[in-house]
Amino acid sequence: MNARPKPELTTDLRINGRRLWDSLMEMAKIGATPKGGVCRLALTDLDRDGRDLFVRWAKEAGCTVRVDRMGNVFARRAGRDESLAPVVTGSHADSQPTGGKFDGIYGVLGGLEVIRSLNDHGIDTERAVEVVIWTNEEGSRFAPAMVASGVFAGVFTLEYGLSRADIHGVTMGQELERIGYAGDVPMGKPIHAAFELHIEQGPILEAEGKTIGVVTHAQGQRWYEVEFIGQESHAGPTPMPRRKDALLAAARVIDRVNRIGHEHAPYACATVGMIQNHPNSRNVIPGRVFFTIDIRHPEDAVLAVMDGKVREAVAQIAAESRVEVQRLEQIFYYAPVPFDADCVASVRAGAERFGYSHRDIVAGAGHDACYLAQVAPTSMIFVPCIDGISHNEVEDAKPEWIEAGGNVLLHAMLGRAGR
Ligand SMILES: [Zn+2]
Repeated sequence: MNARPKPELTTDLRINGRRLWDSLMEMAKIGATPKGGVCRLALTDLDRDGRDLFVRWAKEAGCTVRVDRMGNVFARRAGRDESLAPVVTGSHADSQPTGGKFDGIYGVLGGLEVIRSLNDHGIDTERAVEVVIWTNEEGSRFAPAMVASGVFAGVFTLEYGLSRADIHGVTMGQELERIGYAGDVPMGKPIHAAFELHIEQGPILEAEGKTIGVVTHAQGQRWYEVEFIGQESHAGPTPMPRRKDALLAAARVIDRVNRIGHEHAPYACATVGMIQNHPNSRNVIPGRVFFTIDIRHPEDAVLAVMDGKVREAVAQIAAESRVEVQRLEQIFYYAPVPFDADCVASVRAGAERFGYSHRDIVAGAGHDACYLAQVAPTSMIFVPCIDGISHNEVEDAKPEWIEAGGNVLLHAMLGRAGR
């Protein structure tokens, strides 16, 4: 065996930010939109072209590439001990219809840049290092989102994943076959540690002038559907005290839901995003209103407290407003994800080593890492994006942020892969 000393984790060990940026811009030509964004819907010809480019680059960097049955692509740089579970990073290569150049693909090409940099520095690792493209993260063409990392983690069955269909009835299984990414590698395998690098998709880091978000949790969510029954009557002859105004009751709940969000600052979110008012006529007191409530928090206990407040508010306001609660139903629950403490510490240590300003942060959106966290020690690294805008063609980031995230990923992965 060669007796080369282990390379120290110093700031001399860094990625090539220019190369990462250029790769992102090259990839963004595939599915480029007129306003500077990207449209690469899952398992379309453009998604295949993006995958093909990644596979070519990964092979040029010396990786072996394997594809599992959900079309997840694993590019592997061998370790000294191939019997050990790998250290994994990755994200998604699909986009929203009017998506940006960074969402998802930054985590994929950031991982590739780690491998290219390990090659540049001549560093062997004890464990293999792998970069993954997770299929159909966005859920835009095939619902639900993150379905392929979900199958990998055992949240969904393979049959369920492959049978997801788009609006034309075409299934993921059919499209994987068609574009040549129906792999034969079985789903799931041991992972030593996993990191996902992603733009924040929110405004906090940029507003606070922080370069790195150390992601400690992903938010839990509860979604509800509510229906109030009042009494339709004429807007003129009906005196105010006699009214049973379902829309007024809903309005009071909307205000209260908003205050519940503020009461659990800074991490809580509480939203009424959809409302249907009947009969929706300008001179009829509304007799029936349907609306939705979406509450989020990274701690399950707090989310439960918010749940209690929502239920109490609905009951109390309905009684005061003299309307009937026809329905108050929680239709969706997604448990909060606490990321692995050691992985989170690796990310924080990397940011500190490079002297990057950083803060702990909670992921407000879903990510493949949320499912991966159920089967492997996992955490995420966020970098800012301009004005916090994402899922938009104008989504943008500064090259120095992109480079900083790559450096933190390199050190986090090296720390776990063993030099
Ligand atoms: Zn994403």
